[in-house]
Amino acid sequence: MHDLNTQVENKVQNITNQLAITSEYAITTSNKQLISQLLEHALSYGNINNITVFNHKKEVISEIGPAAHIPTPPLSALAQTQRAGTFLVSTQAIYHNPLPINSSLGSPLDSYNPQIQRNIIGWIKVETNISQLDIAQYQLFFLLLFLFSLFNVLNAFITSRVAGSLTHPIEKVSLSLRKLTKSQYAAAKSIKLPSQYSEIQKDLLELAERLENHKKELTAGIEQSTEDMRRNMDSMEEKSAQLYIANKEAMESNRLKSQFLANISHEVRTPLNAILGYTKILQKNIKDNQNKLYVDTIEQSTNSLLAIIGDILDFSKIEAGKLSLDHSLINIRELVDDVYQILSANLLTNDKQIDLVTDFSPDVPQTMIGDSIRIRQVFTNLISNALKFTNKGSIKTKVILSSKSKDQLILSFQVIDTGIGIPEDKINQLFKPFSQVDTSTTRKFGGTGLGLVITKKLVEQMGGVINISSVPKIGSTFHFTLKLKPSNKPQPKQEKLEKFIVFLEPSNTYRHYLSNYFSEIGVESIACSGVEQIISKLNQHHNKVDAILLNIIPNKQSTNDAKELASYAIKQFNIPCILMIQPPGQINHYPKLKTMCSDVLLKPISHKHLFNALKNIQPPNAIAAADLTSDSPTIEKQPLPVTHLTGLKILAVDDTQVNLQLLTHWLTPHGLNIFLANSGRKAISMAKEQQFDLILMDIQMPEMDGLETTQHLRALDAYKETPIVALTAHALGSEQDNILASGMNAYLTKPVDELILLNTIEKWCLRKESAQEHINTQVTQAFDINKALSIVSQKSDIAKEMFEMLADSLADEKKLLRHHFELQDTEKLIHVVHRIHGASKYTGTIELTRHAGFLETHLKELGMEDVEGVLNDFLDSIDMLLAIRHLIPWPQE
Ligand code: ADP
Repeated sequence: MHDLNTQVENKVQNITNQLAITSEYAITTSNKQLISQLLEHALSYGNINNITVFNHKKEVISEIGPAAHIPTPPLSALAQTQRAGTFLVSTQAIYHNPLPINSSLGSPLDSYNPQIQRNIIGWIKVETNISQLDIAQYQLFFLLLFLFSLFNVLNAFITSRVAGSLTHPIEKVSLSLRKLTKSQYAAAKSIKLPSQYSEIQKDLLELAERLENHKKELTAGIEQSTEDMRRNMDSMEEKSAQLYIANKEAMESNRLKSQFLANISHEVRTPLNAILGYTKILQKNIKDNQNKLYVDTIEQSTNSLLAIIGDILDFSKIEAGKLSLDHSLINIRELVDDVYQILSANLLTNDKQIDLVTDFSPDVPQTMIGDSIRIRQVFTNLISNALKFTNKGSIKTKVILSSKSKDQLILSFQVIDTGIGIPEDKINQLFKPFSQVDTSTTRKFGGTGLGLVITKKLVEQMGGVINISSVPKIGSTFHFTLKLKPSNKPQPKQEKLEKFIVFLEPSNTYRHYLSNYFSEIGVESIACSGVEQIISKLNQHHNKVDAILLNIIPNKQSTNDAKELASYAIKQFNIPCILMIQPPGQINHYPKLKTMCSDVLLKPISHKHLFNALKNIQPPNAIAAADLTSDSPTIEKQPLPVTHLTGLKILAVDDTQVNLQLLTHWLTPHGLNIFLANSGRKAISMAKEQQFDLILMDIQMPEMDGLETTQHLRALDAYKETPIVALTAHALGSEQDNILASGMNAYLTKPVDELILLNTIEKWCLRKESAQEHINTQVTQAFDINKALSIVSQKSDIAKEMFEMLADSLADEKKLLRHHFELQDTEKLIHVVHRIHGASKYTGTIELTRHAGFLETHLKELGMEDVEGVLNDFLDSIDMLLAIRHLIPWPQE
């Protein structure tokens, strides 16, 4: 457009310029006609509107065309072009060249030479209408706009076509994939893609087909599995029903087995009871040594038969999972001592002298909680095996504390013997039922092969493990652990004795063992291995020696040595002697020696007995020392009858005649009157006729058993309280519960021991008095009647009323106390305690006052911290008061 403008301007200037040049001649010659011709000619050029010619005085000399639209600009020598609106005006001076034209032809350059003086003879002005130019411009603009728009539209159209041709197949692919994911395989396959996408189309089809096949396979698989599962479920249901029935049958047969075992045990124990009982009676009466040996053998055999029955019963109980553990306070040191004592009495012989020692690490607590019977059984099994399989040397029981926490103790035990040992390949079999190392028919040692199995099960039930290490001909070590509970009672402290003793002990092991124990209990000791040594020590230290401890072997030499030594010590230094003797030696066979000594202890030493013997050393009996006549063995005397049972009327009920006879034999010598009933019915009719002090009742009897008989007896007014003691061969726990539940007071397991029977009768017949005593102590502990009366000037009715008022309120107060304690409301708790405390001071309830005082002070000083124990004591004192409430002996007005 700019070019167009310039072009137009140039064109107008050129026209003006040409006119100025061409009109020079016409002006100089004043040829108006020529001027007009020139102007007309010029006007014919397009778009020129007006042409004006001025003379040198700037006067118009000629003008052509319509009137000028733009006023004439100031005229000057310079050519000018001006624009106004749609018009363009161009002015140009007309010069006159003074040189003759001819000369100028020879040198054309001269006419343009600026050096040459030129005169302005006029001006020419040309006005052009340039509106055509604008139109042309607009036309051009619109043309361009049109072309641009056309291009854009075309572009958009092409782009959309291209994009469409690209995205359409992708959309189709995505649609097809969507169909596939929705498992619409047919729909997915029917979607067609353009030919250039044929590869993708093929892949899609293949994918769809594969998925379809896969789905079909899957569905078939699921259907198959479901079917299988359904069938399995059916068979499982069937199996579980079968199992249920089998289980019931097994349980039933197990029950029958246990029942059978219990019955067998009953049947075997009943005759054994008679055998043992009569054997004991025979042992007392037989004088002839040969016959005595026979009877002793009968007793021993019966005892082993009983042990075997016990083992089998235990085994079946463990197998049936019926073994339950008891929790009682046990003193493990005393327990091991007891086992040693009992077993050594039974298993040691005069030829078999073995040192039985214990080794407790000092941190093992004195008392703890556990099942003492079962722990005793474990020790009995292991130590009796050790005794059986050891001929010389020692058996040591080692106990250490493996771990200790607030509510658990783990103790580790070792029973170490120096016996025959066990070959390595046999060790694993030992815990299998009925297995023994020596299975030959000629084997030396008896036993069922159940002992270790039972031991293992018992140890496992008590949370422990057991294992063995053994070297043939050197010895065996049985190691086991037990989980026990600590006792919350304070442990008794070992009392120190501060004594000085000399002792004679030939065995090295035992000497060391005793020396250690003496230093533990604060006793200074000198150990001697022979008689000469002890005499020399005695001579040196007699001033400070408190006692002599002598080990004797029950033979003539040893007893004579001991006698001499005892007599020497007493006569020379007035020092008493204590004897130690290993079973089966019987000191009663040497009565003289016995009277010379202040005490006799059985080996292995029970710590308790040794301690007591040293604590209560008796001054020597000088008279006995004087009499040194020979000491020949005598027969032990019969025990004296328990006289305070004399006159008691006892009814014995048993269907076996021999058992009734045995009871008569046992009890009549003690002054008891025995009445016999051979059936339950007989017992009831006898009981209706006269009052018995105690009834001994067999359990298994034809027609009416012991349980039913007891229930009938308890229905009689006169027999509501009479003690009834069951004598049973049933040893299963459930039976024992039934016995107590039927209304009996206690039970003894057959074969019954004479002494235990007498003690039981004594306990239950004398119990009434002691119960009364117990109640009286409880009343006086909780209530001071004198205090209660003195407060109200001996007016017993007022004292009683005040007491009753307090007692009536206590049940509610207890509830309140618990409530406030649960909410931890100290203020309210203090309030209630204070109220009871105040009231209790005037009613003679001394125990209640004491505990209320403790609790009130505790609450005020320490708040709820550790208050539970004090609160419980207080609540106990309330319970105690309510229990004795009706037993207070108020004086009559
Ligand atoms: P049994 O009642 O026959 O003694 P146990 O189960 O107690 O049954 O013991 C099984 C076998 O283990 C014994 O017969 C014996 O051969 C062997 N045995 C057990 N303890 C010892 C031991 N301390 N020394 C050697 N052998 C032992």
